[in-house]
Amino acid sequence: MPERTPYIAANWKMHKTVAEAAAFVDALLPRIAATQHDIVICPPYLALSEVVERSRGSAVRVAAQNMHEEPLGAFTGEISAAMLVEADVEAVILGHSERRQYFNETDEALARKVPAALAAGLEPILCVGEGEEARDAEQTEDVLERQLQADLAEVESGRLAEVVVAYEPIWAIGTGRTATPEQAQEACAFIRDVLRERGAVADAVRILYGGSVKPANAAELMAQPDIDGALVGGASLDPEEVAAIVEAA
Ligand code: PEP
Repeated sequence: MPERTPYIAANWKMHKTVAEAAAFVDALLPRIAATQHDIVICPPYLALSEVVERSRGSAVRVAAQNMHEEPLGAFTGEISAAMLVEADVEAVILGHSERRQYFNETDEALARKVPAALAAGLEPILCVGEGEEARDAEQTEDVLERQLQADLAEVESGRLAEVVVAYEPIWAIGTGRTATPEQAQEACAFIRDVLRERGAVADAVRILYGGSVKPANAAELMAQPDIDGALVGGASLDPEEVAAIVEAA
């Protein structure tokens, strides 16, 4: 089985000015100097370049929180893959539940965004996950299968392992309610199976868990065989918490 490097992504959402981002990076880097893990910080657009510049030569790479599927055009307020690449951004979160819920990010758009990111040389971090109703109705796997099939429909099987998939049950995001390690493992193993059926080198795909990850629960979640890291929201705003989660991975 290929070795999968642990992957910790810090999704700041709409938090941190450029000055705050700079202070965060300066505080984080000495705390993670010895890590061999992949650490990806996802700041708001205006702080991307600051984080890129401050973290050069470290284990930290930088991701955007969204991008448009078209290369350019009349899309007021949007950002293209090429603009991110020019800023030395290396990855991009796609399909976060907050974007699906509040900004109408559809599976149709994601089916175009994921290949557009790959074509530009960006690593897509594709978020999938069920809401509370689907979980209660035991439809978690149906939701995951539908999202994965739709969002990855235009990605050739040979490139699927370049996509990082984040399993983010919506009921666990920002709620303080974490999926149990068993629930998270079950869903991540299912995601790997779906990718395998799509022809991916599934054992090489990094699958993250996201949903109220913090230092206290990170080790147990990431000890699960199909959980290769974490997508962290709230706790990612504090460099000490991020360093502790990296340590636990
Ligand atoms: C997220 O934003 O992807 C997330 C998992 O948030 P939190 O860790 O705050 O639940």
